Amino acid sequence: MTEFNKEIDAAFQSAWHADKGGDAKWGAIMQQYGAEPLSDGLKKELLNSEMKITRGAFPIELRRVMEKIMAKYPNDAQGFRMDEKVLEYYQKIKPFSGLGDIFANAVTGTQKYSEGLQKEKTKTIKCKNCGAPRLEEMQYDKCMFCGGELAESF
Ligand SMILES: [Zn+2]
Repeated sequence: MTEFNKEIDAAFQSAWHADKGGDAKWGAIMQQYGAEPLSDGLKKELLNSEMKITRGAFPIELRRVMEKIMAKYPNDAQGFRMDEKVLEYYQKIKPFSGLGDIFANAVTGTQKYSEGLQKEKTKTIKCKNCGAPRLEEMQYDKCMFCGGELAESF
């Protein structure tokens, strides 16, 4: 395993083992890499958003640390699939997806459908990577949840 892979793996594990929304230990790792953490206000907003997590730091913070690691090992970083890694991480920290989840999705789907009828032709902007909707009251280009690219859809 290369040093690059070792550090990516270590960051991944640290984020995963952090408390929900990140903890002091994770904060120290971010600081060590010089990666910018989310503000407390934004964390709170994300914790209350529909993008549920059960544990671990927010995917965007892991992405920021992995970006620093990529910059440290530019040769090894070539061909590294950031979005896939972030999505793999998100799969690990999101609520268990079993039958209950399918049921929840069905209910959400119905709600979305009726909401859609009310707000007809409302433009929604979603993350291409994790599917998070853009926080309405904010303007930004990248997903605040995972750091992926946002795409417009109608
Ligand atoms: Zn996202």
